Amino acid sequence: MDANLSDSRTDLSHNNALTTDSQVSNFIDHIAVAIYTCNPSGSVTSYNNAAVNLLGHTPEIGKPLWCPPLELYTRYRKLTSFESTAMAAALKQGLALDGEQLIIQRPDGTKVKIKAHVAPTFDNAGKLTGAVNTLFDITGQSAGEEHEARLAAIVNTSDDTIISKTLEGIITSWNDAAQLMFGYSKEEVIGKHISILIPKERLKEEEYIISQIAGGNKVDHFETMRVAKDGTQIPISLSVSPIMDGNGTIIGASKIARDISEKKKNDEKTATLAAIIDTSDDTIVSKSLNGIIKSWNKSAERMFGYTEEEMIGKHISVIIPPTRIQEEEYIIGQIAQGKQVEHFETVRIAKNGTEIPLSISVSPVKDSNGNIIGASKIARDISTQKTAEETLKRYADRLEIINLMVKTISEELDLNKILQKVTDLTTQITGAQFGAFFYNTIDVSGESYMLYTLSGAPREAFEKFGMPRNTAVFHTTFSGKGIVRVDDITKDQRYGQSAPHFGMPEGHLPVVSYLAVPVVSRSGEVIGGLFFGHPDAGKFTAEHETIIAPIAAQAAIGLDNAKLYEEVKALNEKKDEFIGLASHELKTPLTSITGYLQILSRMNADEKVSRFVNKTLQQVKKLNTLVSDLLDVSKIEAGKLQLLSEPFDARTALDEAIELVQHSYNTHQIVLNTDVSHLVVHGDPNRIEQVIINLLTNAIKYSPMANRVEVVLNHTQHEVTIGVKDYGIGINPEKFSQLFSRFYRVEELNPNISGLGIGLYISHEIVSRHNGKLWVESELNKGSTFWFSIPL
Ligand code: ADP
Repeated sequence: MDANLSDSRTDLSHNNALTTDSQVSNFIDHIAVAIYTCNPSGSVTSYNNAAVNLLGHTPEIGKPLWCPPLELYTRYRKLTSFESTAMAAALKQGLALDGEQLIIQRPDGTKVKIKAHVAPTFDNAGKLTGAVNTLFDITGQSAGEEHEARLAAIVNTSDDTIISKTLEGIITSWNDAAQLMFGYSKEEVIGKHISILIPKERLKEEEYIISQIAGGNKVDHFETMRVAKDGTQIPISLSVSPIMDGNGTIIGASKIARDISEKKKNDEKTATLAAIIDTSDDTIVSKSLNGIIKSWNKSAERMFGYTEEEMIGKHISVIIPPTRIQEEEYIIGQIAQGKQVEHFETVRIAKNGTEIPLSISVSPVKDSNGNIIGASKIARDISTQKTAEETLKRYADRLEIINLMVKTISEELDLNKILQKVTDLTTQITGAQFGAFFYNTIDVSGESYMLYTLSGAPREAFEKFGMPRNTAVFHTTFSGKGIVRVDDITKDQRYGQSAPHFGMPEGHLPVVSYLAVPVVSRSGEVIGGLFFGHPDAGKFTAEHETIIAPIAAQAAIGLDNAKLYEEVKALNEKKDEFIGLASHELKTPLTSITGYLQILSRMNADEKVSRFVNKTLQQVKKLNTLVSDLLDVSKIEAGKLQLLSEPFDARTALDEAIELVQHSYNTHQIVLNTDVSHLVVHGDPNRIEQVIINLLTNAIKYSPMANRVEVVLNHTQHEVTIGVKDYGIGINPEKFSQLFSRFYRVEELNPNISGLGIGLYISHEIVSRHNGKLWVESELNKGSTFWFSIPL
């Protein structure tokens, strides 16, 4: 031991400026601080007594101090090696390193904690000759050793990368996470300069960080890039704190680095999403399950007028109408069950109080564990859509009303009905409370007077008012000055000008909104006006004008037609009256003529004379029948055709009619086919005979090429049926429906056969009056059969 000591003394004196003085060697040997020196390759070249005591064995000259049996641990109690020590670093880089703490396990197993101060030594030429290491026993110093050990363990097992370095930037510790992050092992980096981790373009950053640290400041969450061993760049967030020694001197820095690649990605994603949401034309709002607004995009600001600042943290009910609060409960209920709510049409309230019709779609918002923590709403303003829908519906409704009106106007010829319909429907379309249609007309005596129909008001309301034609307000319309629309007629200068009422008479309608549309006939004359009123102001719009104007024009046409129809009807009545009168006047002289002719024929004149008289008598009979028929027509028209109701024998009536016709026409043979000899019928026997004669005459008239007419009589329990069949020109079935109308003749087929077209008309009337039926079966150029049946 002594020899070694003296050796060490010798060696120390060799390697020191104080070498020549043996006293110095002696002094060093007696210093309580352990000192040793080594050459550039790390082998021990000298040591003192205190070093032997501290290490618990005598170092071997020429071998590294730290080789077995010594075991070396970091201050965090991790086994380490000489290569990781400050001494190794100092020798490699020629740097003085102070304060490295290590734990040495002596050969006897005891441990000692030391602090090393390493100083490189150089020769006169500046070449590294080795290093001096002064070791202080700090085992007792560290009161919180346990604590420190725990800390070391934490540091090592931390998921965060924790690195410490000196103020010069030399890495002094490196945890497992650091290895994982950067790919360097502890051995590779301890003692290296931190710049191996820093991209070139960011070296300046390190200067900044170090200057902060040197000034005693922390650097928090500094986002930057570092380079791993394999060259990949890692985005990290750095937090750097100063490391102080026991005296409070800053001796280094500890860095916690966190990989923020994921965060960066997420941040980018979030930013992109936020940008999308913010620029979206849809209103996007998110809220917590209890309704607190969590996000509010630009479109939401525009839609509701509230800013993001105003709304975040507020309850969603701010924009929900009180009557719709339950809706929110329903929506939240759905969301809480993880369901979506789609295209829910509702109404929300903007800041300025206006109601906005919306279609909202709500989806659950989940946290990373999949728990539902809120809801996101996309709301779309559907006012335009709603307005369009409403407009469409309004137009459809109106179209329907207008259609109905046009139909009425074109189908109806009754003036009053047209007026009433137009009044009712236009009042409905305009939303007026009262509507009136005033219509000028001329009465029988040629006096002009006014008809009116009302809607929404009792007739009495107008009766007090007299005829409005000449009041200042109404006159505008009747004088053809166009449509009048006033938001408040009581404020109009024309109002209240005319006697006797000066405004609305007592008890009259409380008209404020006023709309009047003139009704102008084809000839340009104002024939009336449509008037609408409402007790509230401003009820009528330009749109109402555009709807009512064409209706008024249409109504004018309808009224013109109705008027024409009335005129035609009047003329027609006159004609019927004339026919009745004329046939009546003809009847009297005809009767006398017949009488005289009959007397003449009975007188014993010569044969020639009596032949002429008989011929004349026959023609007069025909004339008489014609006049009777005409008279019948006018009686039917006037509803004055009188029928008897008495029992008579149908067979007898038929035989008589056949005999009469056969007597007048010898061109055709009339053949009766029947089993019936007697059949009692109730009715007018003469009129029934008239029907049969009519049918027989027609059958002969319209079968000029034939010579036969067949008659059938049969009956059931309920009715008697008579048919007259001919083999003549026949009738096109298309004409069947018109055959029985007054004055109708199938002219194109029988231009040479004379007639008035009233025989079938009268026959039809007679049969109908007997509750019977008259019909025809016919084929062109083959012949016809006319049937009639009468209930028994
Ligand atoms: P009229 O015979 O005086 O013309 P009617 O009222 O008796 O008037 O008959 C109406 C029309 O019906 C006739 O003009 C004729 O065109 C058609 N018609 C009637 N009976 C027959 C018939 N038996 N065959 C063909 N056409 C007939």
